[in-house]
Formats: sequence, C-alpha cells, structure tokens
Amino acid sequence: MADMVKDEKCIFCSIQEFPTEKLYEDEEYLAFKDIKPATSYHYLIIPRNHIKNISNLTSADISLVKRLVEIGERVLKNNSASVSDARFGFHVPPFNSIQHLHLHVISPVNEMGFINKFGNEDTD
Ligand SMILES: [Zn+2]
Ligand SMILES: [Zn+2]
Repeated sequence: MADMVKDEKCIFCSIQEFPTEKLYEDEEYLAFKDIKPATSYHYLIIPRNHIKNISNLTSADISLVKRLVEIGERVLKNNSASVSDARFGFHVPPFNSIQHLHLHVISPVNEMGFINKFGNEDTD
C-alpha cells in the first residue's frame, strides 16, 4: 500500500486531524457535513490522500470514485435522507475552490433552487 499523501496547507488534509463531526471514516475515506449546506442533507466525501481534483484521476481510480459514491449513499441512508433524489458531483476545474478531491452529496435536489451550485465557484 502506498504512503499517504498530505499537503499541510490543505484544509481537507488538516480537517482529518481535528475532532470534526465525522459521518463516516475508514482508513482511506472520510465523510462530513458541508459547512455551508445547500440543502437539508449536504455531505462531502473525501479520500484521505491529497488528490488535487478529478483531472488527476486515471482509469485506475474508478474504484476510488465508486467508493466515494458508495459512502455517500450510506451516509444518506444513515441520516434518513433520500438516495434516489440525491445528486452526486465533483467540481470540474477551474470550478474547485478547494484543491483536494471531494464528492458533494446533496439531497433532496429540489431544495437546490435555480442556481446550480456546481456551475459556480463555491465557497466551501
Ligand atoms: Zn488535501
Ligand atoms: Zn466543493
């Protein structure tokens, strides 16, 4: 197994060291609430490793992406949120404010309003 990759200036690397309310965690992944939720249920799922963004992923990382989505579904279920009415999304560069790959899990979609969060620079 490869060594963990960390960037000490990265908020999502350092958040792992703080006692934040974690909704899920294992050796490789972590889930927590978005600090500025767009809907009633808005979670972020991250790999512990510092992976900059979706452009850095290769076909070898398909299992990583699947795992992030699986964890997202599990966290929704644990919180009695709708999975079928949820949206899962990554930022596509240059629309990523935090340089650490994170999957946004948002439910229910109908609370999102007219502005699509993923079309804009977000603030989380
Ligand atoms: Zn990071
Ligand atoms: Zn984000």
